[in-house]
Amino acid sequence: MIKTDVIIIGGGATGCGIARDLALRGIPHYLIEKGDFAAGATGACHGLLHSGSRYAVTDPEAAKECIEENFILRNIAEKCVEKTGGLFVRLPGDSKRFMDRFLKSCEDVGISTEVLSPSRALDLVPALNPMIEEAVKVPDCSIDPFRLCMLNAISSRHRGGGFLLHHEVIEIIQEKGRCIGVKAKDKFTSQIKELRGKIIINATGAWGNLVAGLGGASVPMSLSKGSLVITNHRLTNMVINRLRPPSDGDIIVPNEAVCLCGTTSITVMNPDDIKVEPLEIDTLTTEAEQMIPRFSTTRMIRAYCGVRPLLKSASEDTRAISRGFRIIDHKNGLFSILGGKLTTYRLMAEKMVDVIMDQFGKKAACLTAELPLDGQEELSGYPLSKRLKNLDDIVCECELVTKSDVKNVINRTGTKYIEDIQHRTRLGMGPCQGGFCTYRALGIMQEMGRVSPEDSMRILKTFLEKRFRGIRPALWGDQLKEEQLVEYIYMGILNMGSETGK
Ligand SMILES: Cc1cc2nc3c(=O)[nH]c(=O)nc-3n(C[C@H](O)[C@H](O)[C@H](O)COP(=O)(O)OP(=O)(O)OC[C@H]3O[C@@H](n4cnc5c(N)ncnc54)[C@H](O)[C@@H]3O)c2cc1C
Repeated sequence: MIKTDVIIIGGGATGCGIARDLALRGIPHYLIEKGDFAAGATGACHGLLHSGSRYAVTDPEAAKECIEENFILRNIAEKCVEKTGGLFVRLPGDSKRFMDRFLKSCEDVGISTEVLSPSRALDLVPALNPMIEEAVKVPDCSIDPFRLCMLNAISSRHRGGGFLLHHEVIEIIQEKGRCIGVKAKDKFTSQIKELRGKIIINATGAWGNLVAGLGGASVPMSLSKGSLVITNHRLTNMVINRLRPPSDGDIIVPNEAVCLCGTTSITVMNPDDIKVEPLEIDTLTTEAEQMIPRFSTTRMIRAYCGVRPLLKSASEDTRAISRGFRIIDHKNGLFSILGGKLTTYRLMAEKMVDVIMDQFGKKAACLTAELPLDGQEELSGYPLSKRLKNLDDIVCECELVTKSDVKNVINRTGTKYIEDIQHRTRLGMGPCQGGFCTYRALGIMQEMGRVSPEDSMRILKTFLEKRFRGIRPALWGDQLKEEQLVEYIYMGILNMGSETGK
């Protein structure tokens, strides 16, 4: 049995941020996550480090939090943030009156703006629709959520924090009405581990109500699914937003060599039962091509979706719900932290840990806004220019990942999951989406004695099924041709999916 002071359930940005803050204030803790880091909304988001301008008109409080955190994260998480800047573009038909409100609201919450003529905006982003009437420059940035979570985790681990990845909390142990520990199931071996702690934090985002239920509590949530598509090219070097009230498909974010376009907002009941619908892809591409006309003829490599953990409100419209956050003390040793944004994860963690320090009757200042995240050099494997130095033994041609990169991750993490290698190296994130490199990475795992041949077939099958769910909605044009080739490799050459194949 593992004993600690604080057990954190959930390894998204919120949970990892809490782990780092606890570590810096000297509180022993353990984090449990049912997947890899960022397996929930954090890894399924747009990767936009909001300036807050998107919320300035409708949710000024959340907008103010965003702009303050935006500048903090630029400093402490330099290697996760690309200071792209952002443009809100007004297209023919978009209300000029809304633009005036937008500028006034940004000023009120302290977000700097600069109105640009169409020609100036086109100088900055040549792929923009030449018909734009105006653009407003704001301090939006692009952020890598996987790297952000891992660096928060490294900061915690350096100070003794513990982590259990791929372990699902299936029970919250209660004694005399108090939550005193959890049981977590290893997803690979089904083995159950028991942890005891003085305080348990439910940082499970969209799963918040399910996990609160394990502790005899409930939390008021609205679950809003959002879908996104990824293009094969980086069509813009700046974040592009449509200058109108928040709606579907009005944000394009550059990320490494690609662009992410989203999103939709659809109420769902179960965060484990979501998929991208073809109609959402149509909406996203139609809206995106209004801002960047080349969008519709650019190859899509994948679509994905995630669920926003929003606070319940009287409004039926999920876009009208505040992006603010709330901490709930269930008065039995269990706390839930809900809502918020990736952009405000650090602030959420700070407020949560302030509450814990009060519970323990301890005093220690929060340092997370000043101290840079540990391990940034180690995890700054991208951009491509860095990888061009070493082209020996390439395993993933799209993202230039080498055999030694893969071996390093396997040695460091002891993982049996392809996704863990992907998140740490970008293996399989390019146009073929792991079609060529997945079986090679599994071969390396097998060579290193980490998995048996039977296990590796099981892992491969699970991975391919998950991969296909993301690729399916984006299958047309060149991506469809590529997918046929990948299908021949797995089904024809490797005989997977046949009656005799495994
Ligand atoms: C489509 C979309 C786009 C978005 N875009 C942006 C954006 O561009 N910028 C921005 O600032 N915000 C954005 N957001 C919001 C942002 O992603 C979320 O607010 C934030 O990531 C939530 O983080 P979290 O750690 O609270 O939750 P999550 O990231 O969902 O983490 C919860 C974790 O708990 C784990 N878990 C659940 N149950 C259990 C269990 N029983 N045992 C163990 N682990 C468990 C899950 O696997 C998950 O990893 C977006 C959200 C969505 C859905």
